Amino acid sequence: MNEFELIDRFFTRMVPAGGIVRQGVGDDCALLDCGERLLAMTTDMLLEGRHFLPDIDPASLGHKALAVNLSDLAAAGATPRAFQLALALPRADEAWLEAFCRGLFALADEHGCVLAGGDTTRVPQLTGAQPGPVDGPLTICITALGDLPRLAVRTRGGARIGDDLWVSGMLGDARAALACRRGEVSGVAAEHSAIFAKRMDWPQPRVALGVALRGIATAGIDVSDGLLGDLGHILKRSRVGAVIEWEQVPRSAALRSLPIEQQQRCALTGGDDYELLFTAASDQRAAVEAAGAASAVPVTRIGRIVGVGDGLRVLDANAAELPTPWHAFDHFAG
Ligand code: ADP
Ligand code: MG
Repeated sequence: MNEFELIDRFFTRMVPAGGIVRQGVGDDCALLDCGERLLAMTTDMLLEGRHFLPDIDPASLGHKALAVNLSDLAAAGATPRAFQLALALPRADEAWLEAFCRGLFALADEHGCVLAGGDTTRVPQLTGAQPGPVDGPLTICITALGDLPRLAVRTRGGARIGDDLWVSGMLGDARAALACRRGEVSGVAAEHSAIFAKRMDWPQPRVALGVALRGIATAGIDVSDGLLGDLGHILKRSRVGAVIEWEQVPRSAALRSLPIEQQQRCALTGGDDYELLFTAASDQRAAVEAAGAASAVPVTRIGRIVGVGDGLRVLDANAAELPTPWHAFDHFAG
């Protein structure tokens, strides 16, 4: 059973008709019906040893813990309003907390997103194979709330055959940072590995673009688990297929300095980019470009939506299909 099968089987329940929940489990945000406006709600957890290493800069951790949630709000086109913070800490380290808060609140203030509660607890010490007790993993869980006009609803389920497929920013840099850290690539220039590390540790949620695409994008998701895997979620919920032109997939100069197989692996299946992947009708190209320009984020058309029977294909410059594994990052795989 993979992560998504687990969620489907145990946590996907009938949503009562006419109730407050308009969109439940299965999208970037839950949508609650509040009359004129919809409230968008999302939760993400970061766990030491799984999402970050113990030596992470606490300021970047504070930033990233909120950024991943704002990115889900951006996917739904919601304006961030408030968040709650649940922390499980091994100890009360003042210097660590100060740096964590610096990163967290700089991003929160930038987006007018107000801390409105949470919970703080101490992680238990674990005993096991090691000589003495060790601290359990530091855990951060944020629930963020945003809102949007009810007519601007955007989910993973609205893509239609013939729509263009777009992505914001550049893909693959965050995964390249991991490749550098793990020694999967060698001979990377210091300036390039610094760019990769910054993209991994300080992701920029595309909030302004998400809002600017209201009424323009037909479906959207943020790229947290990798382009092909996250596109898979749009395809499944929209019951369509897609064709991606590899040559169009936007990559930084730093990523282009790596061997082509690494570029493909990082840009197509690497996670942690927090760019927006979205679809829009082909007569909306100028509107999409304008939304990108207004929010100062490049947007690139990387393919199109086709019938569900055609699945998901990635074509190279000669229109030959790239053999790519297209699963999303899955916490329970393997
Ligand atoms: P994202 O990457 O956008 O944060 P996920 O892939 O983590 O989304 O989650 C997929 C969907 O499953 C989301 O709608 C999320 O709210 C839901 N989900 C995940 N875990 C649970 C759970 N334990 N209970 C209820 N819903 C869950
Ligand atoms: Mg998401």
